[in-house]
Amino acid sequence: MRLVILGATGSIGQSAYSVWEQHRDEVTVEGLVAHRENERLWGMGTAMNARWVGLADKESAQQLERAHRGEPGPKIVAGKEAILEALGVCDATHVLAAMSGFAGLEPTMTALARGRKVLLANKETLVAAGDLVRAKADQSGADIVPVDSEHSAIFQCLALNQPFRRIVLTCSGGPFRGWRSDELAEVTVEQALRHPNWSMGPKITIDSATLMNKGLEIIEAHYLFRASYDAIDVVIHPESVVHSLVEFVDGATMAQCGYPDMRVPIAVAMAWPQRWTLDVPDFGWTGRTLHFEAPDTGTFRLLRLARAAGITGGAAPAILNAANEVAVASFLAGRIRFLDIADTVEETLNTLRGDDTLTSVEQVIETDKRARAQADMLISRRHK
Ligand code: NDP
Ligand code: MG
Repeated sequence: MRLVILGATGSIGQSAYSVWEQHRDEVTVEGLVAHRENERLWGMGTAMNARWVGLADKESAQQLERAHRGEPGPKIVAGKEAILEALGVCDATHVLAAMSGFAGLEPTMTALARGRKVLLANKETLVAAGDLVRAKADQSGADIVPVDSEHSAIFQCLALNQPFRRIVLTCSGGPFRGWRSDELAEVTVEQALRHPNWSMGPKITIDSATLMNKGLEIIEAHYLFRASYDAIDVVIHPESVVHSLVEFVDGATMAQCGYPDMRVPIAVAMAWPQRWTLDVPDFGWTGRTLHFEAPDTGTFRLLRLARAAGITGGAAPAILNAANEVAVASFLAGRIRFLDIADTVEETLNTLRGDDTLTSVEQVIETDKRARAQADMLISRRHK
């Protein structure tokens, strides 16, 4: 395979690097993309013998150019437009979409338009523009293979395409499982960034603490598996051993289990329908106790809001996603408190109309912009 990694310097990108280290013969690296982590990207690019590295931030690209002028190494691509072009014309067969947030939409659409197989970690893209992403893949015949651990689990369970009753997404519950709203009011950024089981980038870690991550994953599952919303359940499973389940029409239930290690779903997506060896230790079953409980959607209402936005469809999921990205960034920057994240998302959804159908990427981008401006305004008004 000839691979491009979007978001190479992030948490998923680093896990992909580890998979590549163990499968250099199978994976040729075409290109690597990041935002502004230029030296890190260059280091990866030279180690992986990439043909090109792209930085969305032009200044970071220019800085890199100056620092490594005359050295052998990958070609440096500067800025979003040039990256989209490189992605369009290069020889990649597979694209690992692992940028964080809405920024992943355009490169993912470009990859799909060119018929490249998309290994999708970037759930925000599917949430904001699920219908368009699906349509683009259907039109070009490109495959989308999930990388998100729950969706990888479901994908593996559904390998034979058999009819199912329901999909059950497991959810660790995050660091605040069992907490009440009054306790959540005081949580710090540091506490929210301490996920019990998974090591991930900051945005998704906060989403895991609010349970918005699971809400986004409900919408992601709807689009990936063409499942109706009432056939997608969420169960809290604090051990993060069962990565998700599928209940088939005959009542048989299949699950996929293992350590919480993103290298596994990344390798599954890369190798599918084969399996690659990976240096993951044997999984010991004896002595383990697994727990399952219902989520508290009263306290963690973003889970409920996300499902409702998915059911409403049209622009609602894009609005939900944009408001959440703004609110999470504001929380991480210390501008708002933990519970303000849900308030911001809810108020943005209530203020903007969400039911118009989005028929083009430009319309999605426009909706995303509007929702960001609205969420920003609500935050500024409340925190003058
Ligand atoms: P990180 O924050 O660790 O990494 C984000 C990556 O995206 C970095 O390489 C960053 O570059 C790059 N990036 C961000 N914005 C842009 C931009 N505008 N243009 C180009 N590159 C950009 O995130 P994660 O790896 O944790 O998550 C990535 C995606 O995968 C998210 O959508 C997340 O929901 C999903 N995911 C992650 C999981 C995980 O375990 N981490 C699990 C399941 C899904 P730079 O370093 O230069 O800033
Ligand atoms: Mg997940």
